[in-house]
Amino acid sequence: MAASMQKISSHICQLCKRRYLTFKHKRSSSNLKSKPWKSVVGLEIHAQINTESKLFSGAENKFGGPTNTQVSLFDAAFPGTLPVLNKGCVEAGVLTALALRCTVNKVSKFDRKHYFYADLPAGYQITQQRQPLAVKGHVDYCISDKNSFETKTANITQIQLEQDSGKSLHDEKDRISLIDLNRCGTGLMEIVTEPDFSDGTDASAFVKELQKILQTIKTCDCKMEEGSLRVDANISVHKLGEPLGIRTEVKNLNSIKSVSKAISFEVKRQIELLENGGIVENETRSFDTEIDETVPMRDKEVKTDYRFMPEPNLPPLHLFDSESVKTVSSKMSVINIDDIQQKLPPLPEDTRKRLEQQYSLKRRDVAVLVDNSGLVDYFEDVMRLSPTTSAKLVSNFIINQLLGVLNDRKLTIYKCPVKTEDFGKLIDLLHTEEISYSTSCKVLDEMFEHPNIAPKDIVDQKDWRQISDTQILTNICEKVLEEHPKLISKYRKGKLKYLHTLVNKAVIDSNNKANPRILKQIMEDLLDNK
Ligand code: ADP
Ligand code: MG
Repeated sequence: MAASMQKISSHICQLCKRRYLTFKHKRSSSNLKSKPWKSVVGLEIHAQINTESKLFSGAENKFGGPTNTQVSLFDAAFPGTLPVLNKGCVEAGVLTALALRCTVNKVSKFDRKHYFYADLPAGYQITQQRQPLAVKGHVDYCISDKNSFETKTANITQIQLEQDSGKSLHDEKDRISLIDLNRCGTGLMEIVTEPDFSDGTDASAFVKELQKILQTIKTCDCKMEEGSLRVDANISVHKLGEPLGIRTEVKNLNSIKSVSKAISFEVKRQIELLENGGIVENETRSFDTEIDETVPMRDKEVKTDYRFMPEPNLPPLHLFDSESVKTVSSKMSVINIDDIQQKLPPLPEDTRKRLEQQYSLKRRDVAVLVDNSGLVDYFEDVMRLSPTTSAKLVSNFIINQLLGVLNDRKLTIYKCPVKTEDFGKLIDLLHTEEISYSTSCKVLDEMFEHPNIAPKDIVDQKDWRQISDTQILTNICEKVLEEHPKLISKYRKGKLKYLHTLVNKAVIDSNNKANPRILKQIMEDLLDNK
């Protein structure tokens, strides 16, 4: 009896357990469904090093030369040729590593990465697989929209030095491929990030900041359209709280827009695929800018065996600091990391912070100044020559007016005909209310046409000076009030907009020359005292 009771109760227990498990499963699968997708992005960026010659040869390193004119015997992989490490490339790599707040390895090593490709005559690329130049850095970057600014940090996994390949040019019509080896052996810095980005906007904001940094330290010109900065984006999606998903890699993105669009498309594609019961394949894709979609690469890679091996013709690369350099007898080919650190100029974020503090400018305005090459120098030159001018007014006028006029005329700030001294004088006229804001815009246009005439002379010649004389303005206001008794009574009933109507009428009566601020004050006083 006791035994059968025990059996029954164990049976009930089993039932309960099963019910509970079914319930738990249902709950967790419905949780899974309702949990939002999260996308994850990590970047691998190839930045061509801005040096006169290539990484391991003396051949010229310049974009756009006639095909196959910048190729040394080593670049063409002639037997018996040997690599000679370009010290300038290493110094650029170290400067970049320091700018990205990385730890520079005192010893790094070169490896051969083998693969067969027509524009890689050696059959292998010299890279740094085992021990890269630098590791563990970070970069702060800004995400901004109309209303907000958010500062984020991306972690840099490593920076390695490697060779670029040549270029294959495909002639679709004649169905032939031609090889240009000019790019073969150009020094590259491969900058690898942790999977720290959440979407395309995020990743592209980082690339923009990286571009600014590399351009500031002049280690890469970052002309994405010329291929000197190329981005590979690794993208995956997963449910919140779950492990990272399987990633695809979209190769060779060559504009900031493409980075953003390719990632957004890929995230959407992966989510749709998974929601429809599919699986994401670990594959290499490219971005078709005609249709704004990622597509599998034709030569779909099977897991390639690169047969990595140490590069036998290059010794380990030793770097020094101010302490260890003392032990070296010949300083000729020595690179001292501390010396390079001294050469690190203020980075874009340093400049933003300084401008904010020094001139009490808003973050948003500072960001525009720093984003547009040459604007910070122009702004600071104006401030240096006219120290009493309002910095806020100068930066506003540069951002809201000068940039527009330059754009209309397809000019860069470097070609701006308006000298900084004259620009400062124009802002002084605006600041002291000798001219109105709208007049100052007209004066700026005139200054572009006649850069040799001082803004004050333009204002005098055109008779554009603002009327700030209170007696004259009072007369104008009284006349308007006499002519519009109905507007006065409407104003009295508490409708403030009639004050603006009256002021506008007075401005028109003054031929648009009345100082609107003083005019409004006078009009208000007159109305309240009537
Ligand atoms: P591999 O050795 O195949 O190149 P890595 O581990 O070096 O792979 O990673 C390459 C890039 O892919 C890095 O930028 C890294 O941040 C990114 N990455 C790795 N895993 C993921 C993932 N699950 N989702 C998105 N990006 C990833
Ligand atoms: Mg890798």
